[in-house]
Amino acid sequence: MRTQYRCMEKTCGILISTNKEKDGINCPKCKAPVMPEPYDPNEEHISYESIKKYMTGYKCLKCNYTEVINHTKKEYSEVKVCPNCRDGAFVDKWKILSYIKERSVC
Ligand SMILES: [Zn+2]
Ligand SMILES: [Zn+2]
Repeated sequence: MRTQYRCMEKTCGILISTNKEKDGINCPKCKAPVMPEPYDPNEEHISYESIKKYMTGYKCLKCNYTEVINHTKKEYSEVKVCPNCRDGAFVDKWKILSYIKERSVC
């Protein structure tokens, strides 16, 4: 059964839909609290799954800088540009082994 959550901020009023009960979620737009309501299929929703934040640890292959980054599924990428040295490859720690292998081929 799907539930919808409405943002309590009247000027925002975002509707989030989810198929599981979620505790302690906030509006992704204005961070206001949201209230659960019975699901209404005729209203426009934002899927909770598409705004859910994931945490991924990244490490720079050049300067060894590490950081944990919050991102949605859509924003995820295996490699970014290192925010510390602005030059190195900033790689998802779970994928880093394959990058190190590629680099040591020659
Ligand atoms: Zn809001
Ligand atoms: Zn770096």
